[in-house]
Parts: sequence; structure tokens; C-alpha cells
Amino acid sequence: MKLCDFIRPASLAAARDNLRELGPKGMILAGGTALHFMQDHTPVTAVDITRLGLSFIKQEGNYYNIGATTPLADIQRYRAPRWAMHEICRRISTHQIRNISTIGGNICRVFPWADLPVILLAMDARMVIYSGQEEEFEADEYFKTQPAKRFLDGNILTSVKVPVLHAHHGFGSIKVTRTDAAFAHVTIAAFLELDGNQIKSARMAAGSAIPFPRRLPTVEAALVGREATPAVFKEAASKAGEDVTWRGREGMTADYSRHLAEVTILDALERAASFARGRTE
Ligand SMILES: Cc1cc2nc3c(=O)[nH]c(=O)nc-3n(C[C@H](O)[C@H](O)[C@H](O)COP(=O)(O)OP(=O)(O)OC[C@H]3O[C@@H](n4cnc5c(N)ncnc54)[C@H](O)[C@@H]3O)c2cc1C
Repeated sequence: MKLCDFIRPASLAAARDNLRELGPKGMILAGGTALHFMQDHTPVTAVDITRLGLSFIKQEGNYYNIGATTPLADIQRYRAPRWAMHEICRRISTHQIRNISTIGGNICRVFPWADLPVILLAMDARMVIYSGQEEEFEADEYFKTQPAKRFLDGNILTSVKVPVLHAHHGFGSIKVTRTDAAFAHVTIAAFLELDGNQIKSARMAAGSAIPFPRRLPTVEAALVGREATPAVFKEAASKAGEDVTWRGREGMTADYSRHLAEVTILDALERAASFARGRTE
């Protein structure tokens, strides 16, 4: 994209009107860090949404509501009981990028390396989209295909609702990189609900060594109803190849990626189980 003009609307409704008037000649601008990766040079007018009051993190009932223009650095710094989002945010790129990159920008146009879609799929988050009125979408529905398609007609993501983890809920996310600020070779997120030591429910998601982030249903099925032990985790992780076709990355083979994913699934599950056991109040 080539930014040729810039608008800073005063309200959400005005931003949507501007976007609808501009059609394909307009583009929502949040942190602007993804422009670097958008190869085509179509001239566009940027519609800046960063002054619309969409930068916040609030607990509302059973959800943490995170405004769409909240920078990743704020999510990394935030603390609350059973808060788990900081873990992945501190692994995304550098401080400078995290200071301006927003949660909305990360999940409205999903690049193969994006880490937050993996986390939000495993957490069963909800995305709130403004189209004149606000509508919520479950993560499974929202990430079924490239979300950018949802925003072609002036719609705007306003917030992301992340469930509060309750007693016996555990969460673990792991991003494997070759160097500190690199894109992930593989990112894995695991959510576990334990009943004693038995796994009542599980949500697993993966990203980066596959074309698009997605859940791992066969791995999940191999966990539910079983004891939360390393042997069960290992057996479930070995099924990762049944859910997706792993791709080679950065000179590594596809087989290497699959093996790396299995080891990372095991690690993420152990992290989720110890999270659940350590926070039972
Ligand atoms: C060097 C570098 C390394 C990076 N490494 C990683 C990494 O390892 N893992 C990772 O996950 N991310 C990484 N990122 C960040 C990621 O690639 C994106 O750049 C970033 O998440 C986009 O956020 P932004 O706020 O800058 O969005 P923008 O660039 O402003 O927007 C991105 C896209 O989303 C649309 N958009 C933004 N907000 C909304 C909204 N509220 N509603 C509808 N549409 C919207 C825009 O129109 C645009 O199409 C990296 C970025 C850089 C520059």
C-alpha cells in the first residue's frame, strides 16, 4: 500500500462513513507496522483509528475486554489474576514494534507468522466488530478464513474479549524462534480444564509452520477424559501430523517442523497443566 492521504475521524461512526466513501481507496491505520509487509503499491487514504478510545484493557464479568488499538506493549505489561496474554506479547518482535503494533492490527489481516490468532483460538476469545452496531464473533468463526475479508466494507474491529481463566483452567503458549525477535518457526497454544487430574476439556492451536493458524482437533480429542500426565500429553502431541500438514521454514524440512511442533505441544501442555494446578482458588 502507498499512503497518499491521511484522515483522523473523531468517532467510530465517522471512521466507518469515511471508509465506506473511500471503498478500496481507503485503509484503516492502527500502528501502521504491517504496511512494511504489504507488497502492492495501490495508493490509499489512511483512516487513523488510534484516537477513538479503543485502547484499553478492562475486566467485564467473565471476560477481559481489550480495545482493538491497544498496543501489544500494554498487553505485555498488564497484570490481573490468571492473566495469560503477556506471555506471548513479550515474544513478539522488539519493544519498539510492540509499542505501536496493536492487537487489532495483528488479527485483522493475519500473516502466516502472526502469534495472537493462535492464542485467541486456544482461548476461545470473541472478536467485536462495528458495522453500525457491534456484533461478536467466536474465534473459530472469525479465524475460519482470512479476517481481512470482513473489513472490506468499512467495518472496524473494536475489541477482543478474552475469557477470564477460572479455577482449574490452565493456559500455556510457546513460540519457537531461531533468534530473539524473529518470526516463529512454530507457535503453539494450549488451554486445559482439569477436574482433579482429569482433562475435562482442551483447546489446542498452532501457527507459523502451517499456512494459516488453526485448531488441532485430533490432539484435543486425544486429551479429553484422560489423566493430565506427561505420557498422555506426549501421545496426544504425536497426533499433530493428523490435523495439519507442517511446512518447512527457514531451511528446515517439513519433517523437522512436525517434530518441533510435537515437542512444543508437549511443552505447552505441561505449562498449561502447571498453570491450572497452581491457581485453583
Ligand atoms: C519487523 C516486524 C516483526 C514482527 N514480528 C512479528 C511476530 O513475530 N509475530 C507477530 O504476531 N507479529 C509480528 N509483527 C507484527 C505484525 O506483523 C503486524 O505488523 C502488526 O501486528 C500490525 O499491527 P498494527 O497495529 O501496526 O496494524 P496496521 O499495520 O495499522 O494494520 C494492519 C492491517 O489491519 C487492518 N486493521 C488494523 N486495525 C484494524 C481494526 N481495528 N479493524 C479492522 N482492520 C484493522 C489495517 O487496515 C491493515 O490492513 C512484526 C512486525 C514487524 C514490523
